[in-house]
Amino acid sequence: MTQLIIPPRPALLDTPHQDMLIGGQRVPALSGQRFETRNPATGDLLATVAQGGAEDVDRAVKSARAAFEGPWRRMKPVERQRIMLRLADLVEQDFEELAMLDTLDLGAPYSRTIMGKTRAGALLRYYAGQATLIAGDTIDNSAMGDVLSHTLKEPIGVVAAINPWNGPIGMSVWKAGPVLATGCTLVMKPAEQTPLSALRFGELCLEAGVPDGVINIVTGLGDAGAALSSHPDVDKIAFTGSTGVGEKILHAAAGTMKRVTVELGGKSPNIVFADADLDKAVPAAAMAVFANAGQICSAGTRLFVQSTIHDEFMERLAAFTKTIKVGDPLDPTTQIGPVISLPQMDKILGFIASANTQGAHPLTGGNRMSGAGYDAGYFIEPTIFTHVADDMTIAREEIFGPVLSAFTFEHVEEVLTRANATEFGLGGGVWTRDLATAHRMARGIRAGSVWVNCYQMLDPAVPFGGYRMSGFGRESGAHHIEDYLETKAVWINLD
Ligand code: NAP
Ligand code: MG
Repeated sequence: MTQLIIPPRPALLDTPHQDMLIGGQRVPALSGQRFETRNPATGDLLATVAQGGAEDVDRAVKSARAAFEGPWRRMKPVERQRIMLRLADLVEQDFEELAMLDTLDLGAPYSRTIMGKTRAGALLRYYAGQATLIAGDTIDNSAMGDVLSHTLKEPIGVVAAINPWNGPIGMSVWKAGPVLATGCTLVMKPAEQTPLSALRFGELCLEAGVPDGVINIVTGLGDAGAALSSHPDVDKIAFTGSTGVGEKILHAAAGTMKRVTVELGGKSPNIVFADADLDKAVPAAAMAVFANAGQICSAGTRLFVQSTIHDEFMERLAAFTKTIKVGDPLDPTTQIGPVISLPQMDKILGFIASANTQGAHPLTGGNRMSGAGYDAGYFIEPTIFTHVADDMTIAREEIFGPVLSAFTFEHVEEVLTRANATEFGLGGGVWTRDLATAHRMARGIRAGSVWVNCYQMLDPAVPFGGYRMSGFGRESGAHHIEDYLETKAVWINLD
């Protein structure tokens, strides 16, 4: 394997104060306020960032509305496609910088963030393809007389995207894709912990020829998100984040009947049957939860292992987990970095404490990491609990940290019932060589994605989203752009 080269400090950070992007201009907040973004591996200040408030949100929505009513709306699909393909090239060309910004802002190892390059390019090219596939229907109606009916597909208008911090550049691209494909315009609010790569992405959009005002980036705190979700001139909200904030957004959007899609949290089961290929299942079960320090919405946080292999499996899992390298995100061999922040670390350590109190057995990990290279950051050991009861706190709540709860089971029906005994429904994994078991489980798990003999696969062409408290709407896939389109019926009387 070729040695991964860590790029230099991103040029964006030569500017210590980062402004928002509204109407094609980098502008400070009208209030003049700023907030800090820091590196969670070291605590170092990366930049101060414009703290957008309601008045900045209003300015950005006005700019997005003006751009929507301007030439962008009348641009041919193939022209939007050409811009998007250029953007895909630019994003790939500059991905080392984008990945470094995320590594510094989020603390994810560079070896992980750089892996997002293929997906970012593929997403933009997939949605670029969709730009020329938008089509209404001609409908053979049964009305009296000779009346023709057909449908027109029209861009819905101004879209607000409100993003989480756990995969910043990938999320920015994912939100922008359907907006650009359909001729909508966007006001995007990145999470306060990770605003940097979104700003650089916004600049690349301009460079690619996206007209001013089509993509606006409002950096800020939760109140900026709240202002966006109640703004009367926003037509649709695409939210990704926690279930609690998702609920607030639904309430805020109700007053103006916005279209809303919400991609929320999870507590996904990963189920290993005795006939599984354990050489594959062991490392995959570990990385299903420990990748990105457990900060993935569809992480396989509830591991069900069939009783006949339970002890052997857990022994191998613990041995594998002890080999995972946690540490400096800028070391090419690091697999896992810190968690995002001090409050998040404290919350995770609180869950670990509750597991110990409630009688789960710690198998490995369980502590904040200390010593040189760790003390200034928020590093937590990859942690596994066995003997977890289904009603314990760690079995039910989303932890969003490197903590795995392991259970044992006997039969298909039993494990299906227990796997589905959650308010969430984002993902689920199944490990078996038996075709019938695989299909029964794939049908039975109540979740938006089921992975058999793999975990967390994603593709621009395959829909992703949640059941139940994990939200609604599907991102990616052929139908995603429907959420960004209005359907108009046109009747023409020929008599
Ligand atoms: P979060 O706390 O819900 O925040 C998400 C975004 O909402 C942030 O930009 C946040 O701003 C903003 N926000 C906060 N309060 C708001 C309000 N009242 N109205 C409107 N917006 C508001 O989530 P997070 O901690 O960033 O991310 C972790 C969560 O995201 C987890 O639950 C995870 O499962 C979920 N997630 C889901 C998916 C999926 O596809 N299903 C993918 C990734 C993550 P601030 O940053 O300023 O607080
Ligand atoms: Mg940060």
